[in-house]
Amino acid sequence: MLMQESELIVRRIRDGTVIDHIDAGRGLQVLDALGVDGLDGSLITVALNVPSGKFKKKDIIKVENMFLQGDDTNKLAIIAPSATVNIIKNYKLVEKRRVSLPNEIGRIFRCSNPGCITNSREHIESVMDVVDREGVILKCRYCRRTLDVSQLEYN
Ligand SMILES: [Zn+2]
Repeated sequence: MLMQESELIVRRIRDGTVIDHIDAGRGLQVLDALGVDGLDGSLITVALNVPSGKFKKKDIIKVENMFLQGDDTNKLAIIAPSATVNIIKNYKLVEKRRVSLPNEIGRIFRCSNPGCITNSREHIESVMDVVDREGVILKCRYCRRTLDVSQLEYN
């Protein structure tokens, strides 16, 4: 029953990318991190708090006519570590992968150091190196400040 309900909410797409199993409440951050804004006219379906199993909820995003590459999706590992990326072509699932933490993450997070050049008016985009994969510790490449995942702010 639950499966049928979520099928109805999020209709099938012909070609594109489905990001499934996003932690509930993170769907909009995922869109933001991917820079998906729909301005190119592609159909984007966002479903928040879709029932998943008996007690859990998840977010799902479907973007038509866009095929997300590994690099694009790996930065989601921090926001939505259990997300899966499904590539759909002609209604068929042609590729399914889990997100995995990359070695560096550009742009999406703000450095917590107010004096950092990435927070100045220079329009320099942040770059963070992942220095601890287990504990998810990032280090700003410009000012060398370390940030753990709970301190991260989105740009
Ligand atoms: Zn910094």
